[in-house]
Amino acid sequence: MSTTEDSRARIKWVSQNHALVAYGDAKISVMAPGLTFAALVFEGFRAYWNEDQEELLIFRLDDHLKRLQFSMALLELDDPPSSEVLAQDILATLRANEFREDSYIRLQVYVDDWGSMTATSPTGSTVICRPRPRAAVFEAGQTFVTSSWTRNAENASPPRIKASANYLNSRLAGLEAKRQGAGGAVILNQNGTIAEGPGGCLFLMRDGVFLTPDVNSGILESITRQTILEMAGDLGIETAERPLGRTELYLAEEAFYCGTGQEIGPVTAFDGRPVGTGEPGPLTRRLQARFDDIVRGRHPGHGHWLTPVYNG
Ligand code: PMP
Repeated sequence: MSTTEDSRARIKWVSQNHALVAYGDAKISVMAPGLTFAALVFEGFRAYWNEDQEELLIFRLDDHLKRLQFSMALLELDDPPSSEVLAQDILATLRANEFREDSYIRLQVYVDDWGSMTATSPTGSTVICRPRPRAAVFEAGQTFVTSSWTRNAENASPPRIKASANYLNSRLAGLEAKRQGAGGAVILNQNGTIAEGPGGCLFLMRDGVFLTPDVNSGILESITRQTILEMAGDLGIETAERPLGRTELYLAEEAFYCGTGQEIGPVTAFDGRPVGTGEPGPLTRRLQARFDDIVRGRHPGHGHWLTPVYNG
């Protein structure tokens, strides 16, 4: 059984419309605008198991819920659920499944039932939690290729919101990269500068400074990216947010891809050209180590980013 199948088999309960139901019983209408017109916004969260505290810690729950409120506002739902209600749904779902290991939570809010492209009700929501260990690329790194697809534009299908409709663009780039045997894609925006990858943001190091595309480069306002910028500041690692040219990929001394799913995944080559030595770099490793300490509650001063599931 693959890891995905294994974790699927372990999902007993999900939350749908703020009530726990058996996973197999959670259904949406085949005519729901959330499905027919992708009128759906979502969030992905990680929760980390802390063995010493025997506690599951959700990372930056409030910040993810705040971003979801922004995404929901753009969807113009009549009756968007509050962050308080959604936080309770997440806690209830994790507790019902009794996960005591690293887990992933997907929260989605959509237009349910039946309706036109501009339907704004009724609102449906689901919370699905599953065990999800750290990806192997955290250690090994992966190669990236530049996509021939252009990032969806702010004035067309805004990447700043986490809408499932945006992931067609990501999927096209991801499939192209996969055909080429690469782990990920660098997607350029309409200006020809670097936006992000299909499901995460990019950092490149030049002259010892970690550079990342600014928030107007066609990216999701990533919570991991923001965490890294803050962590780097604490570690005395210089960073800058600015438009990044494609050629800068090939000058990078170190690079990584980041997001809730991949956490911090070193990039070892762009378009077949090795990044630095072709091995994950030392400053990337330092950031990974600090990140791991923070998300597992081992680093002082970051407790406000962690929501305990069982003893909260
Ligand atoms: N960009 C895209 C397109 C994503 O799907 C994700 C994953 N949510 C990210 C960036 C990273 O965002 P975050 O760090 O908030 O998970």
